[in-house]
Amino acid sequence: HLPGDNEKIQRGWPDQGKIDVNKVYMKYRPDMDFVLKDLNLEVKAGEKIGCVGRTGAGKSTIVQMLYRMREIDRKEKGSTDSHVHFDDVNTQTVGLNLLRKNISMIPQTPYIFSETIRTNIDPLGQYTDEQIWRVLEDVRLKEHIEKQSDGLNTRINGGSSIFSVGQKQLVCLARVVLKPAPVLIMDEATANMDHETDNFLQEKIDQRFEKSTRFTIAHRLTTIANYDKVLVLSKGRKVEFDEPYKLLVNNIGDQEMTNKTGHFSIMVQNTGPISSKQIFDIAKNAYFDKHQGAGQTAH
Ligand code: ATP
Ligand code: MG
Repeated sequence: HLPGDNEKIQRGWPDQGKIDVNKVYMKYRPDMDFVLKDLNLEVKAGEKIGCVGRTGAGKSTIVQMLYRMREIDRKEKGSTDSHVHFDDVNTQTVGLNLLRKNISMIPQTPYIFSETIRTNIDPLGQYTDEQIWRVLEDVRLKEHIEKQSDGLNTRINGGSSIFSVGQKQLVCLARVVLKPAPVLIMDEATANMDHETDNFLQEKIDQRFEKSTRFTIAHRLTTIANYDKVLVLSKGRKVEFDEPYKLLVNNIGDQEMTNKTGHFSIMVQNTGPISSKQIFDIAKNAYFDKHQGAGQTAH
């Protein structure tokens, strides 16, 4: 707890869920190059942002920045305008406990403590067994855990695996679904996830975090085609940040992909003609739903 935390809690912070990233630079070691370079992002309350980019572009580093697993760097020594604001409060002035209580996070590699199943799902011991079982049922892990010798109190050891990778992902899902925060950051697994589990996870998250601000690092473009905005990162820089449909057309109203040269457009085209059309249609429909037909040509 930091001295100012109580005051923030009392006045109801965070009450919206907007995020402002301003001139952020990050590097992993002083002798290395910046991995994020002059990142500026404005995320409005409740917006869903999908982040894409090649391996090494800096996507997971953004997660580390937002969750404050690493502190931000400044390009110029003494510069004070590099910051991350969460509902108008600089996240560096907030105690880590308070900050993380308000950000649900699903990491790229599911994180399991060498502890009991119960502790893994409710690390602070705030919920009853009944509430935990209910969440486990919701994420379809109940039956599997009932089969374990000590039920919720079964210990999970680092090496031994009573869970498959997909199930570990569901343990992380149970952890965040137990208490949805105003912001959800999700760093999707690159591999090892079967489509069925992946779809199930997306669906649950859509239900439980309907009103939350969401920042999702996605590998399947269909997942984010209906999001409010897509952020394309390349070598640590923001190269595109806009509504997916707008990134795929030259003129609002276009009924097919007319912008063929944008970063996002090229990523979409690389998924093949059938999938491209699917992604475009999802993006187009989401755009016109949201803007209620503005600019749509009659046909
Ligand atoms: P992927 O799609 O493979 O998950 P990413 O976009 O998430 O990639 P990051 O993990 O953010 O990429 O990495 C950005 C750059 O920082 C890469 O060049 C990576 O090698 C480097 N990097 C990441 N973590 C560390 C670390 N702990 N120490 C040193 N360098 C790191
Ligand atoms: Mg990553």
